[in-house]
Amino acid sequence: MRQAPVTTIGFDADDTLWQNERFFRATEDRFLDLIADFGDRATLATRLFAVEKRNIPLYGFGIKGFMLSMMETALEASDGRLAPAVVADILAMGRDMLSQPVELLPEVRETLEALSDRYPLLLITKGDLGDQERKLVQSGLGGLFRAVEIVSDKSDATYARVFAARGDGPERGLMVGNSLRSDILPALAAGAFAVHVPHELTWSYEHVEAAVAHPRLFVEEHIRKVADRIEIINASGDDLTK
Ligand SMILES: [Mg+2]
Repeated sequence: MRQAPVTTIGFDADDTLWQNERFFRATEDRFLDLIADFGDRATLATRLFAVEKRNIPLYGFGIKGFMLSMMETALEASDGRLAPAVVADILAMGRDMLSQPVELLPEVRETLEALSDRYPLLLITKGDLGDQERKLVQSGLGGLFRAVEIVSDKSDATYARVFAARGDGPERGLMVGNSLRSDILPALAAGAFAVHVPHELTWSYEHVEAAVAHPRLFVEEHIRKVADRIEIINASGDDLTK
């Protein structure tokens, strides 16, 4: 009997299941207002992004690292003349982000509920451990996943490991996410299928310059279309898996 190519489905969380980047953008705007005395806005924004990128290997992804990068950018831009009140404001902005209520994207719950009847679902996300756990609890989606993997970064090896441990291996896994860099390219490299569901806001770090084409890659404009896409892949049989 022919086996369905896809048996296990992985989902990214931030900007795939719930809003995330919009809170970073809003905080960045407030931050740039706060340090407006120390340079022009575009230069300060570029500087912040450079500091964030430099700090990823040290702090990882997430709000706490972002807070430290804002602090560092402000200190650098002000030549160390930063008022303590500004430091307090930066810390307060970070705490606001960490207590921001979770806002599910449209039709996420219905989509996951329908899929979870037929497939084991995995949540595969990077970021601050405690913050991602908090958002998952608040989302009320936790019970729909067979397993939750909060990882420090998403590489080929991450997807190979997770789909092997929690499914039938990467070749029979499918990853759904908004980031080409973190969700799609490494999942494809691991041998999995991938469905890219772009979000209108995506952090510069996650952008990929080149157009991507791959026999196992599909693009859907809305998460509600993911279930149909998987049915099409599975109905086409295992020739796609070669
Ligand atoms: Mg994402």
